[in-house]
Amino acid sequence: MKKNNYYWDFILVGAGLWNSIIAWYLRQYKPKLNILLIELNSSISKDHIWSFHQHDISSSQHIFIKPLITYSWPSYQVKFPKFNRQIFSGYYSICSKHLNSCLKQNLGNNNFLFNNKTIEIITPTSICLNNREIINANCIIDGRGLKDFQFKGVYQIFLGQQWYLSSPHGLNIPIIMDATINQKKDEYRFIYTLPLTPNSLMIEDTRYTKKSFLTPDMLKNSIHYIQEYAFKNKWKLVKIEREEVGCIPIPFKNKKIIKFKKIVCVGLRANLFHVTTGYSLPIAIQLAENIAKYSTTTTQINFIFLLKLVKKFIIKHQKKQRFFYLLNRLFFLSNPRSHLDIMQYFYSLPEKTISNFYANKLSLFDKIRIFSGKPPISLFQALHTIFFKFIK
Ligand SMILES: Cc1cc2nc3c(=O)[nH]c(=O)nc-3n(C[C@H](O)[C@H](O)[C@H](O)COP(=O)(O)OP(=O)(O)OC[C@H]3O[C@@H](n4cnc5c(N)ncnc54)[C@H](O)[C@@H]3O)c2cc1C
Repeated sequence: MKKNNYYWDFILVGAGLWNSIIAWYLRQYKPKLNILLIELNSSISKDHIWSFHQHDISSSQHIFIKPLITYSWPSYQVKFPKFNRQIFSGYYSICSKHLNSCLKQNLGNNNFLFNNKTIEIITPTSICLNNREIINANCIIDGRGLKDFQFKGVYQIFLGQQWYLSSPHGLNIPIIMDATINQKKDEYRFIYTLPLTPNSLMIEDTRYTKKSFLTPDMLKNSIHYIQEYAFKNKWKLVKIEREEVGCIPIPFKNKKIIKFKKIVCVGLRANLFHVTTGYSLPIAIQLAENIAKYSTTTTQINFIFLLKLVKKFIIKHQKKQRFFYLLNRLFFLSNPRSHLDIMQYFYSLPEKTISNFYANKLSLFDKIRIFSGKPPISLFQALHTIFFKFIK
C-alpha cells in the first residue's frame, strides 16, 4: 500500500450533481478548504441538464448558485387536451459541462481526480485506489449515485434530444409538460421542451412506465414522437447537438433501512430525491448549504458530526416524502385512463400549490386542496388503491 500522509479536508467521491454542488458551496463558504473530487468518468456526470423551479430554493440560495445557472426563463407553460397554462414562476437549468468548468476554475486542477483510478475501498476518512494508493481526509462524502435500488414502484424514463433548427423556433419559455400527445394505456407520457438558444431546442420524450429502460422499439418510438412533435410545431430540425437517455425510480414506499456503514452518503446513494418528480437539485443545494455552514464553525472537519447532520437531514427529508409516496401510489395504481385527468387537475390548482409541490413544501392546506374540488379519482377509488392494490 502506498500511504499518503497528506490529509484533505474533504474527499468527495463521485463528481455527479450532489458532490459538485457540495464542492461549490464548500468553496464559497470556506475557500481555504482542501477538497478532492474523484470521478470515474472523464468529466462531471456525463452530459446532463438539471432544471429546477424558482421557489424550490430560497433567494439567498439563488444568489449563491447564480454562476452555475446556464439557462433561465421567467415562466413556463404546460399543455393538456383541455387547456394550456402559463405559470409565472421562473425556471432554471444547469448544464453539467458548465458546472464542470465552474468547478475547475474554482477548485483548481489539482483538486480533481478523473478517470482511470477506480476506488477499491472507502472508509469514513480514507479511500484506497486500485493502484493500492491510500488517500486520507477528515471526511469522505460518498456521492456515487444509485446502487442496487430495489423498490416497488415505476420509472420515469427519458429520451432527450438537443436539436439545432434551420430557423428560429419562436419559443420563449419552456413547455415542461405537453400531454396533448397520444397516450398509451399502460404509461403516462409527455413532451418536455427547453428553448436553449433561438435556434436550439431540447426536446424530451418522458414516460412514467413499469419498464426501467428504453427497449430498442421504445427508443425508435421516442425518436418518432420527437420528430412528429417538431413537425407539428413547424420546427425544422437540422442536427442533433446532444442526446440524453435516462431512468429515474419513482417508488411507492420508503426504503426502511438506509445503510450508512458510518460513511457520509448523499444524493441518490442516500435516497435523497423528490420521489414523485425524481428530481434532486434543490435538495442538494439545501444539504450543501448545511454542510458548508457547518464547515465555517470548526477548524477541523469532524466526520462523526457530519454523519449526524446528514442523517438528520435524510430523516427529515423522508418524513416530507410520505405524502409523495401516497400520491405515487394513487397515481400509478389507479386506472391508467385517469392519469391524464389527474395531471390536468393538478395543473389547474393555484400556482402556490404547484410550486409548493415541486419545492417539497406542501402545507396541510395544499394537501387538502390536492384532494378537494373535483379530483378525477373518487374517495372510494383512492382508498381502494391505497389499501387493496398496494397491499396485494
Ligand atoms: C434524463 C434525466 C434528467 C434529469 N433531470 C433532472 C432535472 O432536470 N432536475 C433534477 O433535479 N434532477 C434531474 N434528474 C435527476 C438527477 O440527475 C439525479 O437526482 C442526480 O443526478 C443525483 O445526483 P447524484 O450526485 O446522487 O448522482 P449522479 O449525478 O448520478 O452522480 C454520481 C456520480 O458518481 C460517479 N461514480 C460512480 N461510481 C464511482 C466510483 N466508484 N468512483 C468515482 N465516481 C463514481 C458517476 O460516474 C457519477 O458521475 C434527471 C435524471 C435523468 C436520468
